[in-house]
Amino acid sequence: MTSGKRIHVALVDPGLTEADVDVARANAMTNFNRMAEEVPLAIQQLEAGLENHIRQEKGSALRKLRRLYKEMEPVMAALAPYLACRPGCSGCCHYPIGVMPIEADLIASRTGKRLLTGGPGARTGTLVRQEDTPCPFLVDNQCSIYDDRPMACRKHVALTNTAYWCQPERANDHAFPMAGLSTLTAAFEYVIALDGRGMPRDIRDYFGHAPSTP
Ligand code: SF4
Repeated sequence: MTSGKRIHVALVDPGLTEADVDVARANAMTNFNRMAEEVPLAIQQLEAGLENHIRQEKGSALRKLRRLYKEMEPVMAALAPYLACRPGCSGCCHYPIGVMPIEADLIASRTGKRLLTGGPGARTGTLVRQEDTPCPFLVDNQCSIYDDRPMACRKHVALTNTAYWCQPERANDHAFPMAGLSTLTAAFEYVIALDGRGMPRDIRDYFGHAPSTP
């Protein structure tokens, strides 16, 4: 179900590209407005109910995390047409990926990989592109643990038309419209608090730097 409103698409000077921050911001705002008007009510209600669903789920924090991942899939799929993220774009997989201990446990149990202990755990704060050491689960430019990918990957979505501004070195100095997803965030924070363990570490600190074979 949609609101029935029609989209107003602004004409943009063809000489300008998304490398121009004002153009990119206008495009992101247009995409944000389209998303707000067009995302079906059922999806909005699903997102709004996420925290309650996860709180009511019986069982361990890990079980609740898996349910959260599963329930947010249709939400993120509904947002996909308004985002720059596309299959084969792995730009964000070259940056530090903050992973909570419970997320690392899930990935380890699903892949059979052993968790590394120790490690600096500091790269999550640097946001510098790791050109030679992408995420170890990036295989043939695709995520090999897509169903179990951490929340940082799920929520790293860009409303701009292209991935040009996905690079933190570019985006950090500018403000862009963002998809809030506050209930989803609250549900995740509830699971993390229930698990009760530490701070995020970079995914490479849990699983090393070598590319992972499926
Ligand atoms: S887990 Fe998947 S989506 Fe996330 S950084 Fe690694 S390859 Fe990319």
